[in-house]
Amino acid sequence: MKTAFYHDERCLWHTTGEHALILPVGGWVQPPAGAGHAESPESKRRFRNLLEVSGLTKHLDMRGAAPATREDMLRVHPADYIDRFKALSDAGGGNAGIYSPFGQGSFEIAAISAGLAKQAVADVWARRVQNAYVLSRPPGHHCLPEQSMGFCLLANIPIAIEALRAKHGPLRVAVLDWDVHHGNGTQAVYYNRADTLTISIHQEGCFPPGQGLPSERGEGAGFGTNLNVPLLPGGGHRAYLDAMEILVVPALRDFRPDMIIVASGLDANGFDPLARMQAHSDTFREMTAEIMALAAELCGGRMLCVHEGGYAEAIVPFCGLAVVETLAGTRTEVRDPVLDLLCAQQPAADYVAFQRDRLLAQADKLAKAA
Ligand code: ZN
Repeated sequence: MKTAFYHDERCLWHTTGEHALILPVGGWVQPPAGAGHAESPESKRRFRNLLEVSGLTKHLDMRGAAPATREDMLRVHPADYIDRFKALSDAGGGNAGIYSPFGQGSFEIAAISAGLAKQAVADVWARRVQNAYVLSRPPGHHCLPEQSMGFCLLANIPIAIEALRAKHGPLRVAVLDWDVHHGNGTQAVYYNRADTLTISIHQEGCFPPGQGLPSERGEGAGFGTNLNVPLLPGGGHRAYLDAMEILVVPALRDFRPDMIIVASGLDANGFDPLARMQAHSDTFREMTAEIMALAAELCGGRMLCVHEGGYAEAIVPFCGLAVVETLAGTRTEVRDPVLDLLCAQQPAADYVAFQRDRLLAQADKLAKAA
């Protein structure tokens, strides 16, 4: 069995309309010369192409998938959201929520994006593949059941999980979201449910502003199965590894999942224009290895990554390559050209210690509440 890579060229054909970074063109905002909107296909296209030219694709099982069906979507989204999104998409595009513009036909492309996640989850569960990376677009982790948000048009991971459960019954699934922004959509879907552990490591107060607090622990039957780990801006490589050691790994061990899904945003890297975390490709490499080891210990190795954000077009491919190389257990001859620079730009030791103390305090508070 190989590591599988799920992708569909059509995911790169979803358009976000004329924007400069996240600003709609017009008024004082000059039209861009290049790609324009932050969530452009370029970072993903370059990621896929680096896998190809590095030779890594020879070690991968390259797969596609059927689009998610309306029935799949209805397990997570209300019918009126699906209908509204489809009608806008058919009419040339629009926005079915907040910060989530799309063009003609994006509904069908979003269904492909969710379908890739659905197929990967099914294949990992059935052990048809060793593990998987899903290069899907549009992303999913900010999308709420009733509205799109933050470039996310369908809740890809929940759609995939619920399709698996519809077929195989109740399963315990853990979602670790290491996108630099809070995984608010996934949290919202599972906030009241005990069968899904949702963990988000993110830059404190970044997006959505004011959300992703440690006090958001879940409600009702879901109390205790939501964990937010906000990190101080600029925390860098060490902040992520400390978050894994102090909070994330213990939470996963306690929960004992049947499968672990990583919401793999690559926007914590030090060059991302939409965040300030100063991580690098080895951060993603090490976190991937940790989750693989934990999955081997807890759930027969069943784990996969589903792509989310990442807007530094030149840098994302090297972070993505590090994740996929680790999943596949092989190294190519590619060396991340900014790794040495970012390793030299890490925060001072007292800042790292201050962040670590905050994480230890959060763990202490959780232990006392248990
Ligand atoms: Zn993000």
